Amino acid sequence: APQAHGPADSEALATLHRVFGYDAFRGEQKAIIEHVVAGGDAVVLMPTGGGKSLCYQIPALVRPGTGVVVSPLIALMQDQVDALRALGVNAGFINSTQDFDERRVVEAQFLAGELDLLYLAPERLRLDSTLDLLARGKIAVFAIDEAHCVSQWGHDFRPDYLALSLLGERWPDVPRIALTATATHATHQEITERLHMPTARHFVASFDRPNIQYRIVPKADPKKQLLTFLRQEHEGDAGIVYCLSRKSVESTAEFLTRNGIDAVPYHAGLDARTRAAHQSRFLREDGLVVVATIAFGMGIDKPDVRFVAHLDLPKSVEGYYQETGRAGRDRQPSTAWMAYGLNDVIQQRKLIQSGEGDEAFRRRAQAHLDSMLALCETAQCRRGQLLNYFGQDPDPAGCNNCDTCLTPPETWDGTVAAQKVLSTVVRLQRERGQKFGAVQIVDILLGKRTAKVIQFDHDQLSVFGIGNDLDEGEWRGVVRQLLAQGLLAVEGEYGTLVLTEASGTVLRRERDVPLRKEPKKPAVSRTSGSS
Ligand code: ADP
Ligand code: ZN
Repeated sequence: APQAHGPADSEALATLHRVFGYDAFRGEQKAIIEHVVAGGDAVVLMPTGGGKSLCYQIPALVRPGTGVVVSPLIALMQDQVDALRALGVNAGFINSTQDFDERRVVEAQFLAGELDLLYLAPERLRLDSTLDLLARGKIAVFAIDEAHCVSQWGHDFRPDYLALSLLGERWPDVPRIALTATATHATHQEITERLHMPTARHFVASFDRPNIQYRIVPKADPKKQLLTFLRQEHEGDAGIVYCLSRKSVESTAEFLTRNGIDAVPYHAGLDARTRAAHQSRFLREDGLVVVATIAFGMGIDKPDVRFVAHLDLPKSVEGYYQETGRAGRDRQPSTAWMAYGLNDVIQQRKLIQSGEGDEAFRRRAQAHLDSMLALCETAQCRRGQLLNYFGQDPDPAGCNNCDTCLTPPETWDGTVAAQKVLSTVVRLQRERGQKFGAVQIVDILLGKRTAKVIQFDHDQLSVFGIGNDLDEGEWRGVVRQLLAQGLLAVEGEYGTLVLTEASGTVLRRERDVPLRKEPKKPAVSRTSGSS
């Protein structure tokens, strides 16, 4: 049982003052540190920027022995250790970037009891040689950072994390603390089970990041929209722009540079030296923009990231929350901005269908995407929806710091429009045995005699030209929202549209289809390549 509030308690506070130079603990830090210092196991769920590091660094300093930190972020270990050494903490790391001699020095320091903190990659910890080394020294605490990497369903899964369950068996008397910024109930459960921490105390911090303004705009010409956003709101600010593919990372970084914005690319296809150089420029310089795939960002502690922009839809709300959470760790106003459009939905649905994994995996991926789409299409407070997703209670009055709170979207009765889209899909399939993508469906509704419409005689269909009440952008919005709501589905490599089981309820007029109004501007034109 924790015997907190004693010398250990005041020692923790003294360490906070003396070593880190801070006045007071934040949020749950005090309770967590007291619990671990007293020898208890802990599972800590805290958003990015919440102050997780101190939760294991202080117990490592207060308890006798070395704190062993398991982290997947090899590229950052040097920085972390340097920062700690600058504070007078004896920290070291062992990973694959070191040569034999460097490693020997750290090992000797550990065995001599001279290290406060030792950072290890999980693949190291599995090795018998490492376990033997640890057994010959004294360990104050095991910290398992980025603990969600143990979850097979998450996008950061690392098989080596599964082996960490052995720590509790080999060192039953050493407290363990698992930390993550991923907060869904399922991930939480998996961490506890897979790391074998049944008696751990759970600390769940609020996941609200009040200084981050959430905005999701309809995608028309994403690069130009991004440029306008940066020029109008974040001139000279540091930020991260996420893209799905390496190719779009490259072209976006080039586009920004050409337009006078200091930007560098970052993705797994660049060689290690370029990646390291771009990352360290981002950490050290003011106002650099990194255009990256999701390979960039985990563990990067840059307090003044003023914006995170998404040019493509993240695969899950967890991913979105983690990535946007890299903005505003210093608690100053920051923006999470995303451009989202019809092609995102089609592309992601196609990726899931043609991707690897069994049926169960696909269903999970589909469910993750559906939650992300619901966040994009909501007419309610985005922050409220995010907090709900993580099982926390939002302010029912809204947050007043997201786009839907600041400019509430109008909704309209899209039942008839939905019926028109669905009947066009039905006609093509029943009368012609054909399936087409969104562009052709919209052209038919608008009564456009394009080459492809004429080629297939689609101007002879009874639905040809029945959609003149809406413009092209609005029709694309209707299709997008029907896809997001599961009233329409995407099939095959060309992304053809097909009905779902739920489509029938709309066609039979058994339900209404409320839709968000599409803004009239920016106009969506086909040539702008709204991908
Ligand atoms: P996380 O790992 O949860 O993303 P960090 O541990 O990197 O967060 O902490 C985020 C920032 O907050 C860091 O700059 C850290 O120094 C600072 N910080 C953490 N705890 C405190 C505190 N009690 N008082 C002041 N600053 C703190
Ligand atoms: Zn809001």
